[in-house]
Amino acid sequence: MKTHISNKNRIQYLEGLGIDIWHYRNKTKVPDDTGSKIDDKFLEMLRSEVAACKKCELHKSRTQTVFGIGSQYSELMIIGEAPGADEDRIGEPFVGKAGKLLNEMLFSINLLRKDVFITNILKCRPPKNRDPSNEEAELCSKYLNEQINRIKPKLVLALGRVAAQNLLSTTRSIGQLRGHIIQIDKFSIAMVATYHPAYLLRSPKEKSKSWEDLRLVRNFLNNQT
Ligand code: URA
Ligand code: SF4
Repeated sequence: MKTHISNKNRIQYLEGLGIDIWHYRNKTKVPDDTGSKIDDKFLEMLRSEVAACKKCELHKSRTQTVFGIGSQYSELMIIGEAPGADEDRIGEPFVGKAGKLLNEMLFSINLLRKDVFITNILKCRPPKNRDPSNEEAELCSKYLNEQINRIKPKLVLALGRVAAQNLLSTTRSIGQLRGHIIQIDKFSIAMVATYHPAYLLRSPKEKSKSWEDLRLVRNFLNNQT
């Protein structure tokens, strides 16, 4: 996918959040936002395994599986819920309206899609975008676990309740889970949870809280050696 976030969009997004804009002293060119493709053999084999997966009912209604995109060297892994209609059609996570907002959120903390690995709890689209069932999430978790264990990100950003609850095996609300660095014990990896961009599109007032969460992400990554 090739999207370009203009500086104007970035400034509009930040202004929408009520954020003061800091200007770079040296004008730097905004790099292209092309998502990088995976060139790791293990992940490519896992992608093929997922493409052939029929472990749950969702295989019957999918157009294709949506494995994930990014580099195996990504320090940040972004985990959403499940593919929607656009993702099911294109085969890449977060390419619809929510994806556009995600790109802008990343850009606001100086990250591009190619800097991160993006995937979902489920690799197939649930019909009518219904919530994943516990059984589907459990059956599909083998793939996500293998992705996390291979990429070993320094930080996971969980987008929305479904992602955060599944990663932590908790029923606590996203409002309780966001705003802190949390440890995912089973992976010994730090995580930040925030609102799902699709929710932010419906409830723009919550964007300022997501901005706080993104700042946690930025600070955490800045403090890594
Ligand atoms: N919403 C998600 O949770 N994941 C996607 O890939 C797209 C929309
Ligand atoms: Fe397999 Fe996951 Fe798709 Fe279900 S959602 S068919 S477990 S890849």
